[in-house]
Amino acid sequence: MNLERPRVLVVDDAPSNLHILCRGLGKEFQCETASNGLAALEKIKADPPDLVLLDILMPGMDGYEVCRRLKADKATRSIPVIFLTALDDADEEAKGLELGAVDYVTKPFRIPIVQARVRNHVEMKRHRDLLERHALLDALTGIPNRRNFDDALVKEWRRSWRNGSSLALIIADIDYFKDYNDHYGHRAGDICLRQVAQTIAATVRRPSDIVARYGGEEFAVILPSTDVEGALVVAHSIQDAVNGLNLPHTCSAVGDCLTVSQGVAAMIPDPNGEPHDLIEAADKALYKAKKAGRNRLATA
Ligand code: GH3
Ligand code: MG
Ligand code: MG
Repeated sequence: MNLERPRVLVVDDAPSNLHILCRGLGKEFQCETASNGLAALEKIKADPPDLVLLDILMPGMDGYEVCRRLKADKATRSIPVIFLTALDDADEEAKGLELGAVDYVTKPFRIPIVQARVRNHVEMKRHRDLLERHALLDALTGIPNRRNFDDALVKEWRRSWRNGSSLALIIADIDYFKDYNDHYGHRAGDICLRQVAQTIAATVRRPSDIVARYGGEEFAVILPSTDVEGALVVAHSIQDAVNGLNLPHTCSAVGDCLTVSQGVAAMIPDPNGEPHDLIEAADKALYKAKKAGRNRLATA
């Protein structure tokens, strides 16, 4: 968690307002300032603050336009904006809120109220960010979850299609894991899943590679700009790394230790195809590996 004071960008063309606000909020927040709309946008893009306090009436670009641009840009959309303005009128307030501002405070303002509102909205933003992060991670293993995988695969599919590059997918499935649970208990099974997940995640090298929990005891690895030979190298190192864990699995029919089977597939996305084609190919390959005796990998 970030324990630093939250950063607030105060935007106002009147230096006296900037001064009073920064003095009033400075104890609890790190205040930065901008005296016009364009300067504000530049600062926000360069280093997004936790909240923007935004005047409406300013020479050049007004606060409404600044807010509109922030909300139109994916990178800045989630930053809370509070309008702080002399426009004390219900229509203006409605307009500000409709543009996506979280709050509207009229001048003359009182510091304790501005401070409390900023505090509340920064807090809510932190909760939203935390929820968003958790929504993308698997609670048991801490690696990206299925939803995250689905989004990532579509994105990488499109990127590979644009670049004409090969996209690879590995699906790894733990062998005889039902028997592992039955013998060692579900809690031990959970611990084992966590270890295997972390091991696979630590095996991939490129920052663009994505390891996710695909299902119960199945993991998926997305490898952008990788052909089938490259993916096989990664799958072999996963095989070695899992075997290297030496996790006892006395009920396994393929050895004394826990093993995985893997399906490996790669393709240059076809305009008529879809990401599911790659999943299907990797799944088919996984089935082949299982059928051929497990603790091995196969290609589509
Ligand atoms: P195979 O070699 O054919 O893959 O056999 P398997 O037993 O691994 O496959 P099966 O699909 O029959 O069983 C998967 C097992 O994974 C069943 C389930 O109990 C276990 N499993 C799935 N999710 C979890 C989990 O979150 N925690 C634990 N402990 N076990 C899980
Ligand atoms: Mg399975
Ligand atoms: Mg299995």
